Amino acid sequence: MNILIIGSGGREHALVWKIAASPLTDKLYCAPGNAGIAREAECVALDPADHKAVIAFAKDKKIDLIVVGPEVPLCAGIVDNLEAAGIKAFGPTKWAARLEGSKGFTKDLCKANNIPTAAYERFKGASAAKDYVRKKGAPIVVKTDGLAAGKGVVVAETIQEAEEAIDMMFGGGLGAPAWEIVIEERLVGEEASFFALCDGETAMQLASAQDHKRVGDGDKGPNTGGMGAYSPAPIITEDVNRRVMDEIIHPTVRALKRAGAPYKGVLFAGLMITKDGPKLIEYNVRFGDPECQVLMLRMMSDLLPALLAAHDGQLRNFDLRWHPDVALTVVMAAKGYPGNYNKGSVIEGLDMAAQIDGVEIFHAGTKADGNRILANGGRVLNVCACGKTVREARSRVYAAIDRIHWLDGFCRRDIGWRAIEREK
Ligand code: AMP
Repeated sequence: MNILIIGSGGREHALVWKIAASPLTDKLYCAPGNAGIAREAECVALDPADHKAVIAFAKDKKIDLIVVGPEVPLCAGIVDNLEAAGIKAFGPTKWAARLEGSKGFTKDLCKANNIPTAAYERFKGASAAKDYVRKKGAPIVVKTDGLAAGKGVVVAETIQEAEEAIDMMFGGGLGAPAWEIVIEERLVGEEASFFALCDGETAMQLASAQDHKRVGDGDKGPNTGGMGAYSPAPIITEDVNRRVMDEIIHPTVRALKRAGAPYKGVLFAGLMITKDGPKLIEYNVRFGDPECQVLMLRMMSDLLPALLAAHDGQLRNFDLRWHPDVALTVVMAAKGYPGNYNKGSVIEGLDMAAQIDGVEIFHAGTKADGNRILANGGRVLNVCACGKTVREARSRVYAAIDRIHWLDGFCRRDIGWRAIEREK
């Protein structure tokens, strides 16, 4: 099969790595890709926002399946447009992608189907929103309705902070002024990421993971796209797992089918494991980044038949096998991230680092300059490893990182700390 993967981050490098290993794969393209991806796939300078150009490329190269990595093209309806042009595309339609594209849509869906989530209200104006905040008190969570690249959530410790967040969102502090915001109860517990593959009717769970969103050691400092992750998540016990499927994932898939927007693709539930059980924080409509990287390392089966079965509505009799080992990834980012950072610094030692047993390095934001690899983004590398325990996987990752010479880069040194405490 000829396959095209859309995206340019570490998630897409991991997908490329996994799909390149499939005996079904003939020719593999990635648009736009990065320097690491270019070693395993042909990178093409296509703009994922230009659906017509993607369709023309797919027809020209006789692409059999397009796998869409990021949420922005999914929410913009790229799958609808590709399918209308007769091209198989993996991922949800625009209507189904509202699970990520609209917080209000998802919260209403939860309420209507008794899916456990934080209590909430939706607001179109600042004054009613502030009245509600004063009535409920702090801590309280303020969220903008649309996609905001991880910046649309403020967990406010005080009423004043919540009011400032409301003004910021309606005042255009995140780009365009919010047309609606959601205000919700703050959940208390431990967070985990849960992934399921869906074919419109059947949901098959993948694996669980936990990530570290804060930039600094000890989970301190500003939020980022994710500074590291590991799989499986020890907090997802068998009982929690069953509850997530029965109380959250299955009711969601059934509700979307009933609504005429059947969900096909990867459903990524961000969960809070509270003392009352798992509650949904939010849905994403694609693999997580960096969670995808650790999932792909643990997946023993071929990914491609699973994506095809999801696309074709054939997951009912499908199964996937997983390595029992733990996988862990640490993100190396450019100094300054998640604020301002420079591009173009030289990274050396990657080949030496990759020689450590069990280590795999995915590129998240790099570009090639002759034989040199240059940083080309905020999150730049995902150094990953498998191991029998979290501790073993982590020590392999940091041994690899210590072989990488990149003066302008940094990483957290404590990824997996919660899971390692549990291993003790
Ligand atoms: P989201 O973009 O919805 O994933 O939110 C980003 C982060 O904000 C989550 O990973 C949580 O750490 C936090 N968060 C969002 N909603 C809540 C909530 N209701 N209670 C506590 N923390 C939350």
